[in-house]
Formats: sequence, structure tokens, C-alpha cells
Amino acid sequence: MLHKHKCQACSYYTIFQITPMGHKATNTCTHCGDEQTIPWDNEIRSMFKQTQKALKDMEEFCPELKDLKEAGDHVLIS
Ligand SMILES: [Zn+2]
Repeated sequence: MLHKHKCQACSYYTIFQITPMGHKATNTCTHCGDEQTIPWDNEIRSMFKQTQKALKDMEEFCPELKDLKEAGDHVLIS
């Protein structure tokens, strides 16, 4: 599953690849390759939905976010 997120490692807004594995998931930045293991539960899933919604709202002020579509895409937003 691909989703948009700000990467803590490279500081870009990038596309992340999330790979659920049971109760955990691997969240990988497709730009710098930084990988984090996160718990994969309802709480996290609803948090992801909220983040995607928040980023959608941010597109109004940061049109660059709309350019994030495919793995490897990244934008720097100050
Ligand atoms: Zn990164």
C-alpha cells in the first residue's frame, strides 16, 4: 500500500510503501529507503486515514503535494 508521509530520515514528503505483516507493518520511504517497523492495528490505520485527509487539505496551500504519485516521488516543503 502506498501512502504520502513526511519522512523523518530525509525530511521530504514522499511516498511510503507500507507492508503489513500480521500485527506489524514495515513502513519504507521510497525516496531514501528508511525503514520503520510499526504496529499495525485499527488505531494506526485510522491515524493513516487522518493523515491522508490532512495532506489532502494541505494540497490547497502546498500544490507540490499533488505531485506525489509514484514510488520515489519526493518534495521538500518548508
Ligand atoms: Zn526518506
